[in-house]
Amino acid sequence: MRVRNKPWADDLINSHPDLVINNKEKQIHDLNFIRQDKPLHVEIGSGKGDFLIGMALKHPDIEFIGIEIQKSVLAIALKKTLQQKVTNLHWIWSDGSAITDIFVNQKIDFIYLNFSDPWPKKRHEKRRLTYIKFLQEYKNVLKDDGYLQLKTDNRHFFEYSLLSITNFGFSLKEISLDWHKDVIDNDLENIETEYEHKFSQRGQVIYRLLIKNFK
Ligand code: SAH
Repeated sequence: MRVRNKPWADDLINSHPDLVINNKEKQIHDLNFIRQDKPLHVEIGSGKGDFLIGMALKHPDIEFIGIEIQKSVLAIALKKTLQQKVTNLHWIWSDGSAITDIFVNQKIDFIYLNFSDPWPKKRHEKRRLTYIKFLQEYKNVLKDDGYLQLKTDNRHFFEYSLLSITNFGFSLKEISLDWHKDVIDNDLENIETEYEHKFSQRGQVIYRLLIKNFK
């Protein structure tokens, strides 16, 4: 997702330190805005925020955090959060690879990877959010009984992730080769992301994995 630079992004982010953490400038070891008594769900590469805003409105008893590397994209998500008056949702402007520095004292119940950049070239494998190094980090920050969900339209990224995840040792709980059909057939909950909406409108199939942590 590329968006034009938003000149208002800095001001908006800086004026809401209660909603956004800027991990580019300081390491975070204290996520003191998070309610400790609630389950914690985190999306890495949260884009313009539609998924997490939808989830946060639907599940007020869960705390949500979106981690996004592009400041202008994160600022768009923040703007929508303010407009919708969502209170159980926070944002971190950071590379997802900093996740073990961020969640030091706080373990995560659910990680979401939605339409992550597929990085199709072999030489970029290390950038894929399902590369083994990232999986090790997810394991470090997930609770023992935590879950990870992946949705994508990209078959090659899906196949790569399936192999990477099973080779690493996470156990697969659910696989869908046509998630939207399964949602309709089985009356499942699904909050669409921006990319999911765009791709499914074009008739593209959506793949989905649900993975459980191991001890
Ligand atoms: N999840 C959204 C956006 C998908 S596009 C949706 O489904 O619509 C992928 C997003 O991940 C982009 O916004 C990109 O800036 C972000 N991203 C890519 N690599 C990242 C990383 N290492 N850490 C955090 N965000 C990342």
